[in-house]
Amino acid sequence: AQLDTLDLLVLAALLAGTIAYFTKGTYWAVYGDPYASSLANGNGAAKAQKSRNILEKLDESDKNCVVFYGSQTGTAEDYASRLAKEGSSRFGLKTMVADLEDYDYDNLDQFPDDKLAVFVLATYGEGEPTDNAVEFYEFFGSDDVSFSEGGSAQDKPLSSLKYVAFGLGNNTYEHYNSMVRNVDKYLTKLGATRLGAAGEGDDGAGTMEEDFLAWKEPMWQAVCESMGLEEREAVYEAVFEISEKPDLSAEDATVYLGEPNKNHLEGTQKGPYNANNPFIAPILESKEIFTTPSRNCLHMEIGIQGSNLSYTTGDHIAVWPTNAGKEVDRFLNILGLGPKRHTVIAVKGLDSTAKVPFPSPTTYDAAVRYHMEISAPVSRQNVSTIAQFAANDEIKAEMIKLGNDKDYFHEKVTDRNLNLAQLLEIVSNGQPWSKIPFSLMIESLLKIQPRYYSISSSSFVQKDKIAITAVVESTEKVGAPHIVKGVTTNYLLALKQKQHGEPNPDPHGLEYSITGPRNKYDGIHVPVHVRHSNFKLPSDPSKPIIMVGPGTGVAPFRAFVQERAAQAKAGQNVGKTVLFFGCRKASEDFLYQHEWDQYKEALGDNFVMHTAFSRDGPKKVYVQHKMEEYGEELNKLLEQKAYFYVCGDAAHMAREVNTLLGKVIAKYRDVPETKGESIVKAMRASNQYQEDVW
Ligand code: FAD
Repeated sequence: AQLDTLDLLVLAALLAGTIAYFTKGTYWAVYGDPYASSLANGNGAAKAQKSRNILEKLDESDKNCVVFYGSQTGTAEDYASRLAKEGSSRFGLKTMVADLEDYDYDNLDQFPDDKLAVFVLATYGEGEPTDNAVEFYEFFGSDDVSFSEGGSAQDKPLSSLKYVAFGLGNNTYEHYNSMVRNVDKYLTKLGATRLGAAGEGDDGAGTMEEDFLAWKEPMWQAVCESMGLEEREAVYEAVFEISEKPDLSAEDATVYLGEPNKNHLEGTQKGPYNANNPFIAPILESKEIFTTPSRNCLHMEIGIQGSNLSYTTGDHIAVWPTNAGKEVDRFLNILGLGPKRHTVIAVKGLDSTAKVPFPSPTTYDAAVRYHMEISAPVSRQNVSTIAQFAANDEIKAEMIKLGNDKDYFHEKVTDRNLNLAQLLEIVSNGQPWSKIPFSLMIESLLKIQPRYYSISSSSFVQKDKIAITAVVESTEKVGAPHIVKGVTTNYLLALKQKQHGEPNPDPHGLEYSITGPRNKYDGIHVPVHVRHSNFKLPSDPSKPIIMVGPGTGVAPFRAFVQERAAQAKAGQNVGKTVLFFGCRKASEDFLYQHEWDQYKEALGDNFVMHTAFSRDGPKKVYVQHKMEEYGEELNKLLEQKAYFYVCGDAAHMAREVNTLLGKVIAKYRDVPETKGESIVKAMRASNQYQEDVW
């Protein structure tokens, strides 16, 4: 039978529907509402529909360079986008940035030799991959890695792959930069060719940015030589298109005023709550737990009832901060955006691979207040890029000097703890920088990061309430024009003050928008999600435990002791529970001083607390001294297979405790110190030694 016009129309409509259905993941999620796609990713939906084929993606978007990132706190992601931008503006590479989690790797044996793969890889915790790099790392780390074309480890399947690698690590951890080191090893073994050195940035030495800057110049040279590229005068190309929407009002229901995603915008927050979708949780209780007026430490109880969020003792809670009004004002004013802060803007990636880091349409105010890390230290590389937008040659010359001269930059910027807006204010003498494209600011600043806190309550005792113990960050420095006020902890302090109807005793007038977008956080709420950790009590409570937690490092141990006290009360057999705690003065910052007595009542002699005060006497006493003093007892418990836990400062304390423990073991078991060290290593490997450090 012949098809008539109506049949054709019906068929065409069906076909269009089918194509739309099958391409939905690939195109709609990416181009339509980029944030929706990341939300969906987090919820595990839509993800399967998106193409995971990087070769296809490169072809489709006409790129010849992909910069992959394995990032936990956003720094590696930021470095990846900086490399992508630089590759494009200086060398004409056609670059894209890619989240390691979004692609498969079994076709890298077909990676064309005229293209380039860049890996920017952070190492997390004990030499682990970041959450988004787990699958990638497991793929290459496996003994029988195999590729789609059947290549195996023996016949150099990756011989056409050219790559560049940079790692972000912390030398205070034992497995320093192990991600980049191992990945580099695996790729080379499989026949891939690295261009330039494998760079290593060291957060522990505080030289991450400088390590990165020093590494990348020779790396670019090697890339140019290998790929026949020539450097050209860098031209700034905006990554995002910002269109102002005078027809939309900030009150319009479709405009994001800080809501993290669509559910929140539409007024009904819906789970599952996770790193892409926070729960707006009530703060049920808040109090100050230092007894000195000069410093603050907050104890808060955050309600999760009805959210379907759950935690187990030892987990972390992430708090989503809001920037201080004072810094939001400074930032908008110095860019000349003050008067139009509430203008509605639509933000769109100018390239199909660019991800807009916050939902749109929004306003300048909301983007800056809720989504951009505006108070962080300034990157020297960004200063060079911003120079071209100076109002006059004198300001431009100063910015170029700051960007090029490492020592000058340190003296004028790093040593004075400036954030970007503070620096711009100083350099231009307060004159607005109206020529800076807003896109450049979105590109230059990190997406605001939720901050983690070790949960200080036991889920066995209070499953619907999460306690946190947080020291309020405030860093004053001689010669610095501003006091650095920690973003999240000062926001929490403001919430606590509001809850108690206290006048704002903060002389710095930070002024947070406590009621949140459209008053959705009214009544003392804070956006949170929970991150599960491996820092866990032994499943058998009769096993002995030893905990070392000075300062806020005691947070998870309050939870551990609370749990064991409750277990003892419930008639369970609870083993020896030893806590080493340290602080400055018993009268100032002895956290939970009176609570420990209650736990002691429940646990009796099985609970032992050793305290070290560093400023109470003529001699500074730290937890390490106490560990030495009670070395014999420590060793005895370890011989009874006690679990050993350390929490708090990663840079010094945790490292010293590790070394000291090896010495204590050596002394009391009468073995050489090297043997003591290897016993500690074995304890770590078998999870008998656990760390929760930051
Ligand atoms: P931020 O704004 O992030 O600033 C932090 C510090 O960075 C400042 O104090 C300053 O030294 C520096 N800084 C910031 N801006 C500048 C600038 N412009 N120039 C120079 N320096 C600058 N903390 C706790 O109190 N309790 C816990 O139980 C706890 N548990 C944690 C568990 C984990 C797994 C992790 C990773 C961290 C944990 N932390 C904990 C630390 C916590 O996550 C935050 O880092 C801390 O509270 C500071 O956050 P903030 O937003 O207030 O400060």
